[in-house]
Amino acid sequence: MDAVLDTQTGLQAFRDKLQEAGACHLEACVRCGLCAESCHYYLADPVPENIPAHKLARVADLYRRHCSPLGLLGLGRRLDEKAADDLVDAVFGRCSLCGRCSINCTVGINLPRAFRAARAALTAMGKVPRDLQGIVDLALASGNNMGITREDWLETVSWLEEELQAETGDPNARMPVDKQGARILFTVNPREPKFFPLSLQASAKVFWAAGEDWTLASEGWDLTNYGLFNCNDKEAGTITQALVDAMERLGCETLVIGECGHGFASARWEGPEWLGGTFPFKVRSFLEVMDEYVAEGRIQLDPERVSEPVTLHDPCNLVRHGGIREPQRRILRKAVKDFREMAPCGTENFCCGGGGGQLAMGAYKERRIGSGSVKARQVKATGARILCAPCHNCIDQLSELNKEYKLNVKIKSVAEIVADALVNPVPAGEP
Ligand code: SF4
Ligand code: SF4
Ligand code: SF4
Repeated sequence: MDAVLDTQTGLQAFRDKLQEAGACHLEACVRCGLCAESCHYYLADPVPENIPAHKLARVADLYRRHCSPLGLLGLGRRLDEKAADDLVDAVFGRCSLCGRCSINCTVGINLPRAFRAARAALTAMGKVPRDLQGIVDLALASGNNMGITREDWLETVSWLEEELQAETGDPNARMPVDKQGARILFTVNPREPKFFPLSLQASAKVFWAAGEDWTLASEGWDLTNYGLFNCNDKEAGTITQALVDAMERLGCETLVIGECGHGFASARWEGPEWLGGTFPFKVRSFLEVMDEYVAEGRIQLDPERVSEPVTLHDPCNLVRHGGIREPQRRILRKAVKDFREMAPCGTENFCCGGGGGQLAMGAYKERRIGSGSVKARQVKATGARILCAPCHNCIDQLSELNKEYKLNVKIKSVAEIVADALVNPVPAGEP
């Protein structure tokens, strides 16, 4: 059995990803157990396997046996098929890489870093769940993670542009594609053209109302990057390079990442690391851009138009990992009449359960929906009728939770709520 498992390649990927600083974290756990209740998996199903420190111990076992002198004394666990399968269960099957355990750890251990190193090892050995790898492969082969053809993408944009013109009453309202030298290149999650075109139209309406100089790209338009989840940095870098190429080809000033947690974390924080240098352009979240429009009076909002109570989900990759906490709050306070925070929220938010590539891994669906019960309880407690989620991955998971836990909420992106509250400017040429 061991002959087919390429442990050397796996261990090299593990060491490369972990590096020295990460290795120190593996030996730092004092087994206080305080991280248990920070994890939505444990709260939903309190078995030892769901305790973050328990998952960390599986990774530490690998390290001790194969990367530290303790291995010579027989400590740790030898990496064989069974050990690899147990590790898959721990770091792919019971973790959304949300990072909540890390900020609640007594001694500040960066647990997701260790889990990512283990994922990298497993991916290098071909142990990555096949459906997750399939999404990475599709993005590499087709330029987007849903395999949407260039023709279908351009047709959808053209149809949405007509809808935008009808909605705004402005025949000059545009959704430009490949506009050279536009100030902003706007990138989207393929789920939008495929399943949620109205959310893309809402973003376009906000740009229109602000009079922005923006464009979409015919190629390099997909902001998602599942390389963040299989933890193969080479593949992740290749996917990011498509955005960099689009920016270079179009000569835009700022790359704006539509509403997506992991897409933002990938392009803004991880991308430069993967590609080994800084980008010659700015990378911003669409939330920061909309926040600026509101602050500068470039768009006007009427909160009376959104009178139902609204609560906000904080995507881990955007808020805890990405540092984008306030823009969406400032926007919603102006756009809706009754804004209700969840408890806890912000950097202490609970993951919806769909992160870390969970939505792509069919084998763990039951656990994913179960772990989402924590988020479902939070939503219910607010009494909100609209759940705002600035991440299309989260929206997918929250839509399933909506059905499973009978939350009875409408789920919207921030742009959709802003578009609802928008006081339309007078179209050019009208008095
Ligand atoms: S990163 Fe999130 S899902 Fe993973 S162990 Fe920590 S709290 Fe649990
Ligand atoms: S809180 Fe930190 S130190 Fe305590 S058990 Fe969890 S990982 Fe270990
Ligand atoms: S799916 Fe959403 S809430 Fe969950 S880890 Fe990703 S960004 Fe966080």
